[in-house]
Formats: sequence, C-alpha cells, structure tokens
Amino acid sequence: MRQYHDWFDTAIKAGFLNIDKGIKDGIILTPQGVFINRHLKDSVIAAFSNAGYREWEFPSRIAKSSLDLISSLMEKGKGTNFDERIHYIIKGDLETRISQAENPTEALRPSGESQVLPFWSENIQSYRDLYDLGKILLPQKVFRVPFGKHKTLTQFERVSIEGYSLHQTDEHSTSEMFRNIEILRSIIDRLSIPYVYVEAPVWDRNPFNDRILNLRVIADRGTGLLASSYNQGRNLSEPFGIKYRDSENEVCTPCISTFGVGLFYQLLATHLFEDGFIIPPEVSPTQVIIIPIVTGEENRCLLEYVRNIEQELSDKNIRVSIDKEYKQRLTKRREKYELSGVPIRVEIGKQELEQHNLAIYKRWVYEKGQLRKDIISRTELMEHILSSWIEYDAWSRAVTKQKENQNVQLTHSISDIAPLITQGKVAKFYYCGNGECIQRMYGERDNLTGEMISGLVGIGNFLGWNPEKETWEETCIACGTKPTKVAYWSRRVSI
Ligand SMILES: [Zn+2]
Repeated sequence: MRQYHDWFDTAIKAGFLNIDKGIKDGIILTPQGVFINRHLKDSVIAAFSNAGYREWEFPSRIAKSSLDLISSLMEKGKGTNFDERIHYIIKGDLETRISQAENPTEALRPSGESQVLPFWSENIQSYRDLYDLGKILLPQKVFRVPFGKHKTLTQFERVSIEGYSLHQTDEHSTSEMFRNIEILRSIIDRLSIPYVYVEAPVWDRNPFNDRILNLRVIADRGTGLLASSYNQGRNLSEPFGIKYRDSENEVCTPCISTFGVGLFYQLLATHLFEDGFIIPPEVSPTQVIIIPIVTGEENRCLLEYVRNIEQELSDKNIRVSIDKEYKQRLTKRREKYELSGVPIRVEIGKQELEQHNLAIYKRWVYEKGQLRKDIISRTELMEHILSSWIEYDAWSRAVTKQKENQNVQLTHSISDIAPLITQGKVAKFYYCGNGECIQRMYGERDNLTGEMISGLVGIGNFLGWNPEKETWEETCIACGTKPTKVAYWSRRVSI
C-alpha cells in the first residue's frame, strides 16, 4: 500500500489536480478533477433533494457584523477563532480605504453560518416558512488561508457541501441529525470510503452544537473529518434573532440542524493503490478506455472496428474513449490509464480483429503483479462491462471492510493505546460515558510536582463513541465500571 500522503502528488500526475505557481496557496481542479467532483456533488444533492432540501446560492461577501457575532459566540465556548481566515473588503479612494481598514463593514469568509443565518433572520416569519426556506443545501468552495500547524493541506480550496435546516422542536432537530447522517453514510458506503462513525463529545471544540455526529475517514496516519451532522438547538437561532409565528400565532425560536460533507480529496486519498488510483466507475470521467494496437496494413479495418465499439458503448451511456497515441510504446499507453484509475481497458490488435475478440483488463484485478488479461468475444462486451461494475462493487466493499478491520483495533488497557496511535491506527475501547474518565486518559498530574505522570496528551485525540452500539461487556478502560459505550481514539489528520 502506498503512503496516504502520496495521493496528492499522484492526483497531479494523473491529471486530476494542477498547481499554478501564479496562484498563491491554491490548487486548480483540472477538467478530469472537476468531472469527479461534480459527480460527487450531484450524488449528495440528489440524495438530500429527496429529503426536501433545495440548493441555494449565497454571496461569499458577508456583513462583518454577522461574522463578529459568530466569532463572539465562538469565544464564549472553546471554539477556534475565525479571524485568521477572514479577508476584509476595503474599497474606495485612499482616505476611504484607510477609514474602512479601521472599521470594515464587509468580510469575505464564506462560512455557512454567517451566510445562511442572516438570511433566515430577515426572511423567516411564519411556521410555513420553515418548510419553504428552512431546508438549505449550500455547495461551498471555501478558500482557506493556511493557519496553525496545517500549512500544506488546509490551504487548498475545499470543495464541500453543507446543509441547514430549521425545526419547531428540539426532537425534530435531533431526528433530522440522525436521518442526515444515514443519508451521508449510504453515499459514502457506495463510494467505498473507509470510516468510523462516532458521536463526538460536546466539550470538544464545538460551542454551537448540542449533539455532534461525525464520520471520520480512515487514513494511513489517523482519521480525518469526512462528514458531520449536528443538532445546534437554539444556540445560533437565538443570537441571530431568527423567529417565526406558530399556528397559534405565538412567536417562537426554531432549532437548527446542520450537516457538512467533503468527498473529493477523501475519495482520492482512500482510492490510491500500487500503480495509482482505482476510481469507482460511478464517478470515473472515463469508464472504458479502448487502446487500438495499430501496425501496418490493417489499420483502417482496425480503427473502424474500434469506432463501432465506441459507438455501441456510448449509445448505452458508457463513458468511453479511444486512445490515439498510436506511436507511443504500449507500456506507456497502459500506464497512463492505470495511474488515473480508468476502471476498464480494452485492447484490440490484429489478432483480436481477426478472431472477433477483445482483450479486457479490469483496473482492480491483478495476476502475478500485473492486471489480468481476459479474452472475451466481441458480442459479450456490453454484458461483460455491466457485470464488471457489480464485481467492482463487491471488491471495493471488501477492501474497505478490510481496511476498517486492519486499522481499528480493540484495546483493553490505556497503555496499549499509544503504540497503536503511533502506527497510525485507531484504538477502540470500552468506556462508561463519563467525561472524567477521558480527562484521566489524557493525563494525570503529580499532585506535588505538577508534572504529567501518565496519559495520552499529545498522542492523538478522543474521537467519541459509536452512537449505534451499546455494550455492557467487560469494563471501562479508565475506571473499571460497567461500560455503556464503544469508543475510539486516533490521531487527527487533515485531508
Ligand atoms: Zn469510566
């Protein structure tokens, strides 16, 4: 297995990403990358449209007052300050600019909250509006300026989708949070991205949220955030003054549930194998590549044969193309498509033409260190492709399961956690649910010297517990009482 951080360089080589040195701190998605990302986005939008959400566009310029309100609420909790990633907008002649710099009125920081909440406080009036305006899908392209330790990975444009929803009661908001995480899980399962599902503790850097569900992608050196679903209760609707009149004409403050998901980098990071990517057929820009092996006389016949095949496949909505680099060495021509993860490669030379055969290579099927060659009859092609998609699905699910099993390991004592975390693994353990036990795991101080004498401070983080699974087996890893939760600890990595 290649190192996880290799995915970025490989994505550049495979033609999904591009770095333009003229653009500081940014990357560019190439047309191939845009294609994959658009398919991912479409899947999320389709799934949530079925759940009643509608896509909206919001300005990325926002009033500084909204941002200040969010920042002040963050400070009350233990949240990270937004300030480092804000661009203030200053315009006009020199004198105006100087005065604006001292007192800016607009800021560029397209966080969902600072876009959606002012809109709601202006437009929500009746309980009926909760249905019409209260379910917002917000595709984000957040440009992040580097900050803190994460100089390499957070500087990219982060392609993600957020959702915001208003509810009359806290119960509705909570059940929406659970429904949304299930929708996200079904998309992520279909894409075979390995993850752990946790409910994170509210004491963990999230001052706006009453409950937090996270899907954390399993990477080689720890876990990274893949998707989240929150119940924010009235923590933000109250300060933003969002109010509606209910059917009895009473003025009420709604509850808010939100979710966020980023799939593009996470998909690439977890679909990198020995010789490059293996891109799921569902989102692959090219699903079938045909390589005509052209020599001498029979070229015209061969190319006509190839074009017929291309026509047949594209008529059946298969994304197919023909490799026309006839003069390149065959190994070079093959490598290109293996690197960029094209699921199926069809090769046709003189012999195949004469015998009405095709040589088929599936990107995920190896034999003796090379892609296995299957010879099929010309007439079987379409059927073969369709059954290959089903085979791919089974294969990728098995690989994902295996990765989850290999990387998540059950531990029974706190001292076993550190070695696992340093190997990049996720430690799973039984836990009573008491916050003090987690504090004790992070570290204990010697009462006399004040020095840390034990603990996991600096060795990853407590991720939370599995919200689906309760357990009364064995004992809490920290206090020895009967556990109720299956919990996780890992290093946090950013993708
Ligand atoms: Zn305990």
